[in-house]
Amino acid sequence: MDSARMGKNTLLYFAQNRMANRLAKQYGLKLGAKRFVAGTSIDAALQASRELNAHGMTVTLDHLGESVANAGEAHKATQSCLEVLNAIGQVGIKARLSIKLTQLGLGLDRELCLTNVLTIVENADRLNNFVRIDMEDFRYNAATLEIYRRVHRDFPNSVGIVLQASLFKTKEDALDLAQAQANVRLVKGAYRESSGVAWQSKSDIDASYVDLLRIYLRTGNFTAIATHDDAVIETIKDFIHANKIPLGRLEFQMLYGIRSELAKQLVRENYPVRIYVPFGNDWFAYFMRRLAERPSNMAFLFRRDTSIVR
Ligand SMILES: Cc1cc2nc3c(=O)[nH]c(=O)nc-3n(C[C@H](O)[C@H](O)[C@H](O)COP(=O)(O)OP(=O)(O)OC[C@H]3O[C@@H](n4cnc5c(N)ncnc54)[C@H](O)[C@@H]3O)c2cc1C
Repeated sequence: MDSARMGKNTLLYFAQNRMANRLAKQYGLKLGAKRFVAGTSIDAALQASRELNAHGMTVTLDHLGESVANAGEAHKATQSCLEVLNAIGQVGIKARLSIKLTQLGLGLDRELCLTNVLTIVENADRLNNFVRIDMEDFRYNAATLEIYRRVHRDFPNSVGIVLQASLFKTKEDALDLAQAQANVRLVKGAYRESSGVAWQSKSDIDASYVDLLRIYLRTGNFTAIATHDDAVIETIKDFIHANKIPLGRLEFQMLYGIRSELAKQLVRENYPVRIYVPFGNDWFAYFMRRLAERPSNMAFLFRRDTSIVR
């Protein structure tokens, strides 16, 4: 294994290490994580959202956290999601919510998790909002899709899902979800997966990603194109024009703190753009995945941050 890949695997290992997560919480938003996380409080996240809205971008809020240890923690995370939905309605920002199912108990008890997700999506539906279920590592893929399908049956307009281009199974999943008119966010995939289930090289993952974007955009269902990759974005813009895909059925999505100039450029070109804004104390795993995506980000470990909105 080459050293870059070893470094990436080490960061992804730490992302799932409980002790490292606990230590990070004690030290606040240090280690340069501020570049990728809007703050620890909901007020900080709402402020970042207002600023992004002012730049013509909508937002997805993510109250950070994953892999809870017991039902009480899953319940607490559910309540936090409800608070975020209520706050969005009260302050009147253009924002939605993303959730991770292991934060809502998927690793403990599937029924408990389903109940929590139904509670959140039911509230979002009542508030005319929308909840996207993020996709975590492969262990949870099938269960996440199953819960999504179940919730989508009751609330077809208020819940969406994420598919990862790195996985071999995703093409089949995409075709299947297209039949159900699912609103899908397509990503390359942020987790370390085995060669038995996922492409390993960047070129294979990139090719799969473009292939899936073309397939899904053509189905006529809503497609969120979640990437910072210039080459992919240019290819897909050409595809959108050549195939006259209505702009109301797609949006570009990017992560807070990454390629913000590119996001602004897309807004100037009149594309819908949504920024994923994570906040909260449980920032460590999220931050490790961002470092793993780009080794040069390690420089942020040693830098003091000043501004948070880019
Ligand atoms: C809105 C959104 C939601 C996501 N949700 C999920 C999810 O639910 N499940 C999941 O597995 N993954 C998710 N991801 C992460 C995704 O899978 C990729 O890991 C991530 O987007 C990096 O891939 P890329 O498409 O930007 O392409 P890359 O080829 O990795 O990057 C292209 C360029 O973007 C810039 N860039 C990319 N990442 C970084 C970074 N960390 N720091 C600095 N610059 C960077 C660099 O300039 C790089 O050259 C999400 C991504 C986005 C944008």
